[in-house]
Amino acid sequence: MARIVNFSAGPAVLPEEVLARAGDEMLDWRGTGMCVMEMSHRGREFMSIAAEAEKDLRDLLAIPPGYKVLFLQGGATLQFAQIPMNLLAGKGKADYVVTGEWSKKAVKEAQAYCDVHIAASSEDKAFTYAPSQWNVRPDTAYVHYCSNETIGGVEFHAIPEAKNIPLVADASSHLLSRPLEVSKFGLIYAGAQKNIGPAGLTIVIVRDDLVGRAAKGTPSVMDYKQQAAADSMLNTPATYSIYIAGLVFKWLKALGGLAEIERRNIAKAQLLYDYLDGSSFYRNSVNPKDRSRMNVPFTLKDATQDGAFLKGAEERGMVQLKGHRSVGGMRASIYNAMPLAGVQQLVAYMKEFEAKHG
Ligand SMILES: *Cc1c(COP(=O)(O)O)cnc(C)c1O
Repeated sequence: MARIVNFSAGPAVLPEEVLARAGDEMLDWRGTGMCVMEMSHRGREFMSIAAEAEKDLRDLLAIPPGYKVLFLQGGATLQFAQIPMNLLAGKGKADYVVTGEWSKKAVKEAQAYCDVHIAASSEDKAFTYAPSQWNVRPDTAYVHYCSNETIGGVEFHAIPEAKNIPLVADASSHLLSRPLEVSKFGLIYAGAQKNIGPAGLTIVIVRDDLVGRAAKGTPSVMDYKQQAAADSMLNTPATYSIYIAGLVFKWLKALGGLAEIERRNIAKAQLLYDYLDGSSFYRNSVNPKDRSRMNVPFTLKDATQDGAFLKGAEERGMVQLKGHRSVGGMRASIYNAMPLAGVQQLVAYMKEFEAKHG
């Protein structure tokens, strides 16, 4: 059966090579006679899978010494609460930058734990840009932002300067899409199911000095220190998700690492944005310099044609193009595993649809 072109925002497309390899190893992982799903997380085999995944992730991002890498569960949404639980350190205040739906959710969750100050917001222009002027309180415990807003399609292309205040980033939908200077951050987190692997795994990269400050009453699985001390195996981790993420890391290394995937991602995004900008039938309203390379929302001139557009796309083997209910229109998520040919196919269809209905 032919594979579909999947523009889902998440869970999302995975590299075909990774899925094929997982298929080959399904019944017998490297002569063990077991599937990875059947292995004890304390056994030699799985311990080696997890250790290799961590090493490959550290290599890809060139994570400097002095950072813990944690493989947790609960999604990015749990981090919205877990971050204040671990990072407030009795300060009782945290600053947030609001650029769309996900950062709004992070704020809402943090408000249960501390006094939240909005250091910057792009709400004045319907969340269509990445604000560069931040008004951060000098005594805040940390400053949090969403480095790629999956729904609005707004990406910070430069790392904001937070001086000596720990910078915390929700990088769920673009981690590993480009090289990243990890040393600028106190903490980076991402749910795996956008650009990395299956759902069920959350990656947290946290600077050592921010570990060990959890508030009293923090559940032990949510305490970064206890998880770090246990190599993220305080309880049973998401073993199969870690294994698949590990295969994705190897796939990225083999194709040339993050510099190469960034080059490919730029080419894909440029193809789509250039077409959108040259057309008066389709529109993307994000400030051009803040447009996401991963999530490309667009609207049709006449929203009553949305249904016909989606139906035609599906007939041509392209799915999950419907925009998020909060913004409407369309959204093409073009993560690492989306080949250039998928974007070319989408643009060809958009031209065809415009010629017929424009
Ligand atoms: C999807 C997403 C989330 C929520 O992830 P869950 O794993 O469902 O909790 C949070 N932030 C961003 C930027 C996302 O794209």
